[in-house]
Amino acid sequence: MEFRDLKEQYKRLKNEIDAEISQVLDNAAFIGGKKVAELEKKLAAYVGIKHCIACGNGTDALTLALMALGIGKGDCVFVPDFTFFASGEVVSYAGAVPVFVDVDRDTFNINPERLEEAVKKVLEEGKLKPGAVIAVDLFGLPADYEKIRKIADKFGLKIIEDGAQGFGGKIGEKRACSFGDIGTTSFFPAKPLGCYGDGGAVFVDDDGIAEYLHSVCVHGKGRSKYDNIRIGMNSRLDAIQAAVLLPKLRAFEEYELDLVNQAAAYYTEKLSSVVKVPVVPEGFFSSWAQYTIQLPEDGMRDRLQQFLKEQDIPSMIYYQKPMHRQTAFEAVVNPEECFPVADDLSKMVLSLPVHPYLTMEDADKVTDLIIKFISNYK
Ligand SMILES: *Cc1c(COP(=O)(O)O)cnc(C)c1O
Repeated sequence: MEFRDLKEQYKRLKNEIDAEISQVLDNAAFIGGKKVAELEKKLAAYVGIKHCIACGNGTDALTLALMALGIGKGDCVFVPDFTFFASGEVVSYAGAVPVFVDVDRDTFNINPERLEEAVKKVLEEGKLKPGAVIAVDLFGLPADYEKIRKIADKFGLKIIEDGAQGFGGKIGEKRACSFGDIGTTSFFPAKPLGCYGDGGAVFVDDDGIAEYLHSVCVHGKGRSKYDNIRIGMNSRLDAIQAAVLLPKLRAFEEYELDLVNQAAAYYTEKLSSVVKVPVVPEGFFSSWAQYTIQLPEDGMRDRLQQFLKEQDIPSMIYYQKPMHRQTAFEAVVNPEECFPVADDLSKMVLSLPVHPYLTMEDADKVTDLIIKFISNYK
């Protein structure tokens, strides 16, 4: 069984993907060009945002967002304590200081009450200027932007939506990557919408910021490419990756998002009486980058993972180490600060195989084994 079945997906989309890639090869335009422009237009329309700027990967997309908002030395940026390393890494990379915030036990996303406390604390200390919050849509579920927006407005913070795992998620009819002042995503192969290498994108409504981003990701180019008007970076999407993403976006919209939601709903139906299943609040819609259960104790999670592995069922631990425990952040974390929920989650979470092509047979195998394990657990 595959954790995320990219081989099956390719089998189904092979004709379209191969045809798109072959066009790129025939035209020998490998960086940027028509395919990338077409993809940017389609992604922006899908998300419901005026501009999409494709770039090299999801980490660069976050760095570009921080640059566009002018976040750097002397600023702090609030980041959930339970997320992939890059969400915090980019803040230090930009010269600012990440301030980690504990998360919500049910949704895994940043806890708005803890966020407000953290902002007040930084203001009281008076050393750093609160610049932005990077809200992460963890495991496919959008963060609570209604509450986050209120706090951001109250304290003059910008919101960056890290939608690397959230692409395709919704709150009401509004799509992920549209909730912040700037939204970002990643097309790393295993993300909800993945390409066949590295890729990412930034989403923004503001025309001026969009123009800045188009420039800064190509060495700070000016109107003429021989006049560089600022220091930028080299972060572009390959045309071949755009060729892969065009048919994949079509499939994602037409059926994949529905299929992965059916798989998740089936897990929830079968597992909700035996383990803590992921919560999707009323009005929210997840794109299920991960389906993550919580076991009541540390040892139990590890034993379940081992038990599943013995039956050839892959599972993953996202995340083993919260941000405040990462060695690289030792210098910026106050050792007295507590993150009880993120610490608990890191010991209790287990992500199960989930993707649009999960068969009923495989879903039954996974759930039946978990039920068996729990009922025999001593
Ligand atoms: C994957 C991921 C990123 C980084 O994306 P890359 O394309 O791998 O650079 C950032 N944030 C989150 C939450 C992610 O899951």
